[in-house]
Amino acid sequence: MSTFTCPEPKLLSKKELNEALKHFKAILKMDSRNPDSNEKKVIEYIASIFKKEKIPYKIVQKEKGRLNIVARLKSKSQNQGLLLSSHVDTVPWDESKWKHHPLSAKEDDGYIYGRGAIDMKNHTIYSLMAFLLLKRKKIKLNRDVVFAAFADEEAGCEYGSQFVVEKHPKLLEGVGYALNEVGGFPVYVEDKQFFFIQTEEKGFAWYKITFPGKESHGSLATKDNANYHLSDFLFDLKNLSSPANPSKVTREMIYSMSEELPAIKKFIFRLLATSWGNSLAINVLPAEKREAFYAMTHDTFAPTVIESSKKINVVPGEAAVYVDCRFLPDTSVEEATETLKAILPENATLQLIRHGGPVTDVGRGPFYDLITEELTKDVPDAQCVPYTLVGFSDANQLYKLGIQVLGFSPVFFPPEVNFSDLFHGHNERIHKKGFLWGTDLFYRVVQSFCTETN
Ligand SMILES: [Zn+2]
Repeated sequence: MSTFTCPEPKLLSKKELNEALKHFKAILKMDSRNPDSNEKKVIEYIASIFKKEKIPYKIVQKEKGRLNIVARLKSKSQNQGLLLSSHVDTVPWDESKWKHHPLSAKEDDGYIYGRGAIDMKNHTIYSLMAFLLLKRKKIKLNRDVVFAAFADEEAGCEYGSQFVVEKHPKLLEGVGYALNEVGGFPVYVEDKQFFFIQTEEKGFAWYKITFPGKESHGSLATKDNANYHLSDFLFDLKNLSSPANPSKVTREMIYSMSEELPAIKKFIFRLLATSWGNSLAINVLPAEKREAFYAMTHDTFAPTVIESSKKINVVPGEAAVYVDCRFLPDTSVEEATETLKAILPENATLQLIRHGGPVTDVGRGPFYDLITEELTKDVPDAQCVPYTLVGFSDANQLYKLGIQVLGFSPVFFPPEVNFSDLFHGHNERIHKKGFLWGTDLFYRVVQSFCTETN
């Protein structure tokens, strides 16, 4: 058993924390699966709370049922506002693989189970409670505080943050900072506890690549079969090696974490931060860590969906593969496309369907420092490290408005639970005491950043 224990909440009352828990369980029980359901119930629940608290809010939607809600606490100051940002959609689930139903919000052995428990209904409630409490406690604000809960992050943000940023930017006017998901979770190296704070994220580019062939009857077995052309390409894609190019943030993360390692391990781990020694270091990492560090230091290209013949006796005239590319903050979408084009056969066509980001390092400013200061009040020997998200979040849209987004959504997990496995995984759950601590720490960070003395 680990010696790491969950910190205690410091500021909020039992009543306030119980309220957070009540709201959390309520929205955890609501089905907001993307694409099978929608966000309406959760957004209407939040709206009903705002109504009760006499907080004006605005709901906007690109398509029926795909609701986004934004509310604002105004200050008299011209300082850049703080956005408390979350998405309320979740990924689907396979119920047969879960210990408790994904909509049960069931408590078991110190955890609360539910789809969205860490991605990211916890953060929606952290944001909601911070927002409500600032108002109830009549905190004199030094900047506007904006609450936003978005739809559709899990499928690429089109009906959510992208829609709000493009069609309703006024709702986010004056906002300079945001607190968003993926960060604030502990990572254990040897006997040391690290907390990651996301300060940048990789870009994404989704492609469709189409291969022509000779449509014919299955009995003719032509070699000019689109499926063969597609599979030749997949073989080349598998062997495509883009060079390692760790960003400044990733290099800093690797260096900070390596400090805790014994000399030889430290030397090897630091090779990850170099372009020449990266692949050597990746090969000696424990298997379960390789993919994550590879993704953090390379542009990646993953074939996902394949479209081809629909009939067993028809050789298709065309076959297509979709490729999900995630490119590093120092790569551009044009460069990523060129990499792919270099292995494309002449008669294939490449279509860039959608892209976003990257979000380049927002840097370590006073806000980052304030987060580490509050966090180390609770966990004195914790070390905060900046971190590059290899996926994407709403940050890739908010960034377009010049908003500096930090990923900070504090949770506690003991070392025996692999936090990243729970993201989109079976049995997604949150440490109950860790949720209460997260609510408290999140509020303290927001209050301290938004009060008049700052
Ligand atoms: Zn998420």
